[in-house]
Amino acid sequence: MTSEHLKVGIRIRPLLGHEAAFESVVSIENVNHIQETTVNVVDGEHFLSSKFDKVFPSISNQENIFEFISPSIQQSLKGFNTTIFAYGQTGSGKTYSMFGSNWENNNPAPQNYYISTNKLTKITENHPLDNLEGHGLIPRSISQVFESTSTENLTIYTSFLQIYNEKIFDLLQETSNPRPLAIRENKMYGIFVEGLAEYIVENKNDCFLLLAKGDSNRVVRQTKLNQHSSRSHTIFQMLIETDKANKKGALKKSKLNFCDLAGSEKYDKENKMTNEHIKEMTQINKSLTSLGKVIHELGRKKSIHIPYRDSKLTRLLQDSLGLSTRTILIATISSSSSCIEETINTLKFADRAK
Ligand code: ADP
Ligand code: MG
Repeated sequence: MTSEHLKVGIRIRPLLGHEAAFESVVSIENVNHIQETTVNVVDGEHFLSSKFDKVFPSISNQENIFEFISPSIQQSLKGFNTTIFAYGQTGSGKTYSMFGSNWENNNPAPQNYYISTNKLTKITENHPLDNLEGHGLIPRSISQVFESTSTENLTIYTSFLQIYNEKIFDLLQETSNPRPLAIRENKMYGIFVEGLAEYIVENKNDCFLLLAKGDSNRVVRQTKLNQHSSRSHTIFQMLIETDKANKKGALKKSKLNFCDLAGSEKYDKENKMTNEHIKEMTQINKSLTSLGKVIHELGRKKSIHIPYRDSKLTRLLQDSLGLSTRTILIATISSSSSCIEETINTLKFADRAK
C-alpha cells in the first residue's frame, strides 16, 4: 500500500497509572512481522478501522520500533534524504519513542561537557544516556550510523533546532536571548538555516551529548496530559557527507532528520487556556495540517502543487520530503477510552498520509 518512499507505523502505548479506570478501546488484527496490520478503535459511538505498514502493540519495546526504521537509516547512508516523524496527541509517547525512556521528566542535560568551535569533548562518565535498553529511535539510529559503517570517509555534521510559534531557534547555541533564524536556499547547500550551529561529530558519544544538550533547551509546558509537554517541533539532523565526488565534482550528501512533532491537541473546554497557550496550539495545528497535506500530495501520482511554503516545518524539510527521499511516520496513540477522539484524529492523519 504505501510506497517505497513512505512508511507509516502506529505505536500504541500502554495505559498509564492515571488511566487505570478507563478501558482499552484499541485492538489489532493480524499482528506479525511482515504484513500490514489493521488497527480498530471501537466504543459505543466511535468506530474506525484502518491498515498500516505496521502497528505496534503496547508490549512492543524500543528495539521493535527501531527494527521498523533501521532499513531506512541504512538507505540514508547510501545518499537518500530521510526523515523520521513522531506524530500524536500530547502524552501519547512521541518523545519516549524518539529519545527514550531515560529522557523522561528530568531532561538530563549533561553538566560536564564542553563545546569549542566544531569540537566536542566528553568529560563525564555514567551519563543517563548510557542506558542502552531505554534508548529510543534517535540514539539507536546514531549507534547504527557509527557502528554499521566505516565512518572514515564520511563527515557528519549535526544540528538541532526547534520551531516554536513558526519561528526557528537553535537548540545548541548558548545564548540568553535567542533570536529566530531564517531559512535560506542556494545552489551549493540547498535549503539551510542561516546561522545554525553545526557540529562535526566523530563518534556516537559526541552525538548523544548534543542530543541531551539540545533537548534541555526545548520549550515545554505542563499540560493536563503531560507534565513536560513539548510545545515545539524539534528537528535533530545529521548531514552525512562522503568524500567521494560525483561526476560534476560535488560531494555526495544526505540528510537524516528526526522530527519530534509538537503534540496535536484540541481546545480544552474544561480548563481555561491562556492566550499564549491558545496561540501555541493554533500554530502547532496549522503546521501539522500543512505537513499532512505535503505528505499526502507526495503519495499521489500526479501532484500539481506541493504546498511546502505553508509552514516553516515543511519548507525546512522540503528537500527531504520528495520523491527520491525516504519518510517514515510513526503515529503514537494511547489505547485509553479517555483519549478516543484524539486517537481517531491521529489515525485519520496517519491514514491520509499514506
Ligand atoms: P509525548 O512526547 O507524546 O507528549 P511522552 O513520550 O512524553 O509523550 O510520554 C508520556 C508518558 O507516557 C511518559 O511518562 C512516558 O514515559 C510514557 N510512555 C510513553 N510511551 C510509553 C511506552 N511505550 N511504554 C511505557 N511508557 C510510555
Ligand atoms: Mg514530547
